Amino acid sequence: GLETRNVSAWFGDRKVLDRVSLTVAPGGVTALIGPSGCGKSTYLRILNRMHEMVRGAALAGEVLLDGRDIYDPQQRPTEVRRRIGMVFQRPNPFPAMSVYDNVISGLRLAGIKADRRRKDHLVESSLRRAGLWTEVSSRLRTPGGALSGGQQQRLCIARSLAVSPDILLMDEPCSALDPTSTRRIEETIAELRSELTIVIVTHNMQQAQRVSQSCAFFLATHDTPGHIVESGPTEQLFEAPRDSRTADYVGGRF
Ligand code: ATP
Ligand code: MG
Repeated sequence: GLETRNVSAWFGDRKVLDRVSLTVAPGGVTALIGPSGCGKSTYLRILNRMHEMVRGAALAGEVLLDGRDIYDPQQRPTEVRRRIGMVFQRPNPFPAMSVYDNVISGLRLAGIKADRRRKDHLVESSLRRAGLWTEVSSRLRTPGGALSGGQQQRLCIARSLAVSPDILLMDEPCSALDPTSTRRIEETIAELRSELTIVIVTHNMQQAQRVSQSCAFFLATHDTPGHIVESGPTEQLFEAPRDSRTADYVGGRF
């Protein structure tokens, strides 16, 4: 599992997260919700060690993957990012690179050696798991940038899956997509959820309810950095929130 204990984060001297503690149970989908600017993307980047790549960014607290701190100097950042994949708001395949090469583009950095047969297998199985295989199996040489937006996002999911991550982080993966593509991604999430752990940031309350079993509500105000107001089973946050601010947010009164 993935757990954070008292994680605080700064950009320069501005504190943007305050003592965020959350346990993401293995398997299933956890949704992170909250108003714009409350630190959801920052928190997601912290979870796969990308925060340290931002200039002037600082961090306190612990991020534990199966009980080991991912920021431990003994842990290789590339290995952390292999085990914890990330999909972004805007699909970002390598546009000029073929669909095939996009899928396997993470292998080398992850230290995974594969011959041609193994690559063929990985491309097909990853695209199948991302729900894209039937659409692109005859177009594997097409540039990634020539696919539709929704297909590009599923290509990015396939690229993440090819290195066999334990956890997949998704930062508003559907907010740039139309309703049909969104539904396809939600179906993919539902299928992947039995194989790996997913953490998804979403502004769409219906989507949070459709795809997640656990939920955390983040909030920041003018004088308090981002923090978790309430977390628990999704049903509880939406049907019986303990905090009135959660009720207001999920009820659309924010
Ligand atoms: P949204 O819902 O709009 O995506 P968010 O919850 O993801 O918002 P973050 O992007 O994590 O919020 O931002 C949290 C705070 O950190 C914001 O006040 C933002 O301005 C600040 N911030 C984010 N990235 C940086 C950065 N690279 N340098 C300085 N400040 C940053
Ligand atoms: Mg964000």
